[in-house]
Amino acid sequence: MSTMQQVFSGYAARQAVLGASINPYAKGIAWVEGEYVPLAEARIPLMDQGFMHSDLTYDVPSVWDGRFFRLDDHLSRLEASCDKLRLKVPLPREHVKQILIEMVAKSGIRDAFVELIVTRGLKGVRGTKPEDIVNSLYMFVQPYVWVMEPEVQPTGGSAIIARTVRRVPPGAIDPTVKNLQWGDLVRGLFEASDRGATYPFLTDGDAHITEGSGFNIVLVKDGALYTPDRGVLQGVTRKSVIDVARSNGIEVHVEAVPVEMAYTCDEIFMSTTAGGVMPITSLDGRPIKTGQIGPITKKIWDGYWAMHYDPAYSFQIDYDGVQTSANALGKL
Ligand SMILES: *Cc1c(COP(=O)(O)O)cnc(C)c1O
Repeated sequence: MSTMQQVFSGYAARQAVLGASINPYAKGIAWVEGEYVPLAEARIPLMDQGFMHSDLTYDVPSVWDGRFFRLDDHLSRLEASCDKLRLKVPLPREHVKQILIEMVAKSGIRDAFVELIVTRGLKGVRGTKPEDIVNSLYMFVQPYVWVMEPEVQPTGGSAIIARTVRRVPPGAIDPTVKNLQWGDLVRGLFEASDRGATYPFLTDGDAHITEGSGFNIVLVKDGALYTPDRGVLQGVTRKSVIDVARSNGIEVHVEAVPVEMAYTCDEIFMSTTAGGVMPITSLDGRPIKTGQIGPITKKIWDGYWAMHYDPAYSFQIDYDGVQTSANALGKL
């Protein structure tokens, strides 16, 4: 079996167990104002400025096979994003971690998409100093989300270079702050779909590649990786990609990437926490080289999933240490 088959068959087996669970949180759990609720029942106040003005930032760590992956990297980025927006995570990091671990354990979910959202809160910034506003924190855990489904990954997905929309400029919205101002990315998704593809690659409007709808873009040319240094979120998955590349002696260039290189490169993949390393084998309706996943993408893919079991990057969650209402009744 290939590494890809092994990773996906292990995942499928765990999904089957989760699917049969009677745990009330098996489809997701949220933490809202200090209370745990099933995800489908979670609500936010209408007057929250996160909803009214998208005045917020967020982050998405993940759990794979019962282990939190690079949680501190995500929490550090969340704190840095908050600083840039004059927001503050309302709880200390250790407390946030403890709640997240408890949520995952309570849900019994072994492969999870975990989201933390920090909003301005119930008061707007006009006429009020940011330090006088109480910010809100929302958190939820749900079964792992795939930006590219496991069934598609072995052959790779289809992308387009968007021509009807560009990425919002960094001088307008700082892309290094993970944000939910998805106007440009949603337009890109519609264009991709209209052109018979799935994934939009947005440019900076000046002939450089930026990123797509929730993922970074990496090109492979002559055995080296190329990924943009500006106009993009500094992805934690991309950081893992760079770690794997360096430990395999693959050169990495984090620099301005001309759009033209996307048409002349050997391999392309995307990276995000929700799906990992995702191969692209067709661009603007044409196959990339042979139209098959290339050797460098394969190497990075394998290294990325192996990292999830490395204690330098992940830690095991103690599912049995937490009482859920269901196992307290002896049902689990
Ligand atoms: C979340 C996100 C990414 C990927 O970041 P990871 O930390 O790897 O999950 C890339 N671009 C945008 C716009 C994103 O929102």
